Amino acid sequence: MPTRIAILGSTGSIGTQALEVVSCHPEKFEVIVLTGGQNADLLIVQALKYRPKVVVIADEKAYQQVKSALVHEGIVVMAGAESLEEVVIRHDVDMVLTALVGFAGLRPTVAAVRHGKTIALANKETLVVAGQIITTLAKAHNVSIIPVDSEHSALFQCVVGESGNAIEKIYLTASGGPFRGYSIDQLRRVTKAQALKHPNWEMGAKITIDSASMMNKGLEVIEAKWLFQLSNEQIDVVVHPQSIIHSLVQFEDGSMKAQMGLPDMRLPIQYAMAYPARISNPFPRFSFLDYPALTFEQVDQRVFKNLALAYRSMELAGTAPCALNAANEVTNLLFRQEKISFTDIADLNEAAMDAVPFVLRPTLEDLYEADALAREWVVRKMAAKALS
Ligand code: NAD
Ligand code: MG
Repeated sequence: MPTRIAILGSTGSIGTQALEVVSCHPEKFEVIVLTGGQNADLLIVQALKYRPKVVVIADEKAYQQVKSALVHEGIVVMAGAESLEEVVIRHDVDMVLTALVGFAGLRPTVAAVRHGKTIALANKETLVVAGQIITTLAKAHNVSIIPVDSEHSALFQCVVGESGNAIEKIYLTASGGPFRGYSIDQLRRVTKAQALKHPNWEMGAKITIDSASMMNKGLEVIEAKWLFQLSNEQIDVVVHPQSIIHSLVQFEDGSMKAQMGLPDMRLPIQYAMAYPARISNPFPRFSFLDYPALTFEQVDQRVFKNLALAYRSMELAGTAPCALNAANEVTNLLFRQEKISFTDIADLNEAAMDAVPFVLRPTLEDLYEADALAREWVVRKMAAKALS
């Protein structure tokens, strides 16, 4: 029986690569649901090729276009954010790949977990804002959350077969991004075009900026905490510019396991989709001669303040990571719109996180509220600045 999959965000970087994995193994995966945000043209092309039962276009303005292209093909077309919660709980969906970006992933992930669907989790923001709630729900519903993020997939692969053996510590590797080694003064002057040029990975725009600002690594620290149930002190970050070692686990005996391979997201995507099996593929293989040296450095958290900020939000716990994430979604976009400087991102993130009223044991409603308040705070701050 093939795994019947719903891909949320199929038109994005992770989503399109997940469909490449499906194409390599059409007998192993059946696409039941495809969803996209705004790119109606690509969603239609994907639907005609992979023949899902239903597609969702989040942007309601594009509904008519998608509907008229697919209605005669026997494919149901839906629109709007609420439809995502409806399609993930279909009885014919086994696995939900959350490849949409940002806080928008939270509601459909909650719905999918409540209905017992296996989660292949790319949407790290969901665990950052609601790690406690999601992991508790997953336990209650006996749901597996299998990471897609390359570092977390690496950690997950390292702990397979180690049940009962305690983790002493983990090391998340970071490429260091395009501004590795920069001083804070240099960082102030970088442009959007420079920030969008990641040395090793091709990804969606939001995560590419997050990688340059180290917010991505900060979000990943929090993601790792929840996925592997670690204390804050057990999580360390090391810069590894070649992006070959994807992360490491250190066990109680001091022994370390690492997972390595070329920086190719199709590998962790495929691993999550086929877990526990490893399946063949024609993707490029690693050659030692191309990488004669694998090197390691420390992150300067005084320059890359977002990483320090993520650790601080984790110490505060409660709504703090949610407020930080929400502020960052707005500041990340403002930087891409060239409305703020690169270092403004972390400065505004910090101020917003501290400004939002804090709740120590938030419900989902508290998280929606903290998310909205942090976004509003940044928007108001920008408006005040424009007036002054
Ligand atoms: P992307 O921008 O390329 O694609 C995002 C997808 O989500 C698109 O299909 C888009 O249409 C859809 N989408 C965006 N906003 C939406 C909304 N509000 N409602 C519904 N759909 C919406 O992003 P990506 O790089 O593929 O990243 C997706 C997720 O995976 C992110 O959480 C990211 O952090 C994580 N991730 C990505 C990579 C990577 O290599 N791209 C690696 C690790 C983790
Ligand atoms: Mg990652």
